[in-house]
Amino acid sequence: MSFAQLNLSTEILRAIADQGYTEPTPIQAQAIPPILEGRDIMGAAQTGTGKTAGFTLPMLNRLQPEANTSASPARHPIRALILVPTRELAIQVYESVKAYGKYMPLRCAAVYGGMDMEPQTRALRTGVEILVATPGRLLDHIQQKTMNLSKVEILVLDEADRMLDMGFLPDIKRILGLIPEQRQSLLFSATFSEEIKKLANKLLKDPILIEA
Ligand code: AMP
Repeated sequence: MSFAQLNLSTEILRAIADQGYTEPTPIQAQAIPPILEGRDIMGAAQTGTGKTAGFTLPMLNRLQPEANTSASPARHPIRALILVPTRELAIQVYESVKAYGKYMPLRCAAVYGGMDMEPQTRALRTGVEILVATPGRLLDHIQQKTMNLSKVEILVLDEADRMLDMGFLPDIKRILGLIPEQRQSLLFSATFSEEIKKLANKLLKDPILIEA
């Protein structure tokens, strides 16, 4: 199996080649086709399996940008929201989106705690299509009215078990109330407790289960 067989755009294939990846990891081979088709995913995956590219590559492919160069949130609504448990993971996922999307005119920002709100607010004001966020800090920004989530098409919950362990469930529920019902949802977790299954039931529609 090669990346070229996966129906990814030439911009994305070029970025993958720049990373030096020669073939998809098992989770990528399983996750990329159904995500490209718009299906919801429940993925059992540890870090180190290539899961970040597994959801980022098809997500980018689905966010084919319209030709549009103006810098304003109205012209660049948030179309993909990636929730992660920690600042470290937020930075890591943000870097991956930047690397895999380097040939696409999509903007990305990351918001997380432990850092001034102001630079993050400035980034949001210019308008970003892809936002990586920890749940608490995302709600802080929502309270400041610096973002609008009404155009979100793709929601990703990465390391969902860690988010629940950290007590983010109420925050996640509030965020779910602010994004469109009609969307694609991808949930990744290393473990599947009853709590995770309940969240998955609430979040996912007819999901494909993948394991790596
Ligand atoms: P992740 O599990 O998403 O944290 O990725 C773990 C590491 O694997 C990262 O350093 C990626 O750059 C790398 N990686 C992801 N996909 C591939 C691939 N298809 N081939 C080689 N390395 C990869």
